[in-house]
Amino acid sequence: LVLVEADHVGCTYSNGAALTVALQSATCRVLVNDRIALVGPSGSGKSTLLQLLGGFEPPTSGCIAWPLLGAREQLRPRHIGFIFQMPSLLPPLSVIENVELPLLLLGESTDLARQSAKIELERIGISHLADKLPEELSGGQAQRAAVARSMVGKPRLILADEPTGQLDHRTARDMLDAMFAALHGTGTALVIATHDPAVVERLEQEWTIRNGYLEVL
Ligand code: ADP
Ligand code: ADP
Repeated sequence: LVLVEADHVGCTYSNGAALTVALQSATCRVLVNDRIALVGPSGSGKSTLLQLLGGFEPPTSGCIAWPLLGAREQLRPRHIGFIFQMPSLLPPLSVIENVELPLLLLGESTDLARQSAKIELERIGISHLADKLPEELSGGQAQRAAVARSMVGKPRLILADEPTGQLDHRTARDMLDAMFAALHGTGTALVIATHDPAVVERLEQEWTIRNGYLEVL
């Protein structure tokens, strides 16, 4: 049950005349239910690989495929959730409005979107914050709201880029607890790029990118 499969994918960015090789070659696959930590020094290509695995950035070399997520490009965003280091909530919208937004963008009715967002806030333990604005939240609360937003569409795969990077130890642990509890039994796979050993030890696999290279089979 392969969700995404990367075969020697590489990514080079060009800004005018300057070329940056962000990722040399990554070969890996993510299966249903996987819990993967993506580690490696800063600048080794972790963010870039997450972008490629999510289909947000095309590889400049190699192949990438999402066998279970449907060939249709338009369907993929529905199946993939993304969590950033900064919570990146939209400031003028309340917590629940932020969480329901992905569903509205996918064309769901306002009633259904609101209902799903409510359920998601409960699952992640922040129902009481539904009507707050992002600026009223602590860092940990904001990151939980971002987690709820990434999960509201019931994605098959969640990609997270340093999700605990801005949180203290205890807040990070609470956020992970809430996230794992919400994911339990869903089959949703998780790939987390992280420098945090406390995060790594809670995941089942550890992938290390070295100088832009990753090979895990
Ligand atoms: P990591 O997440 O491991 O820190 P990144 O994937 O962010 O690594 O970056 C890998 C390399 O690619 C770095 O040298 C970074 O500066 C460069 N890079 C990443 N994104 C871009 C971009 N959009 N344009 C130019 N260079 C980039
Ligand atoms: P990380 O915290 O994982 O190291 P970065 O802070 O390097 O991530 O990058 C965050 C985002 O900014 C990445 O997704 C990448 O696409 C973009 N980025 C990184 N480096 C550059 C760059 N030199 N030029 C343009 N965009 C970049």
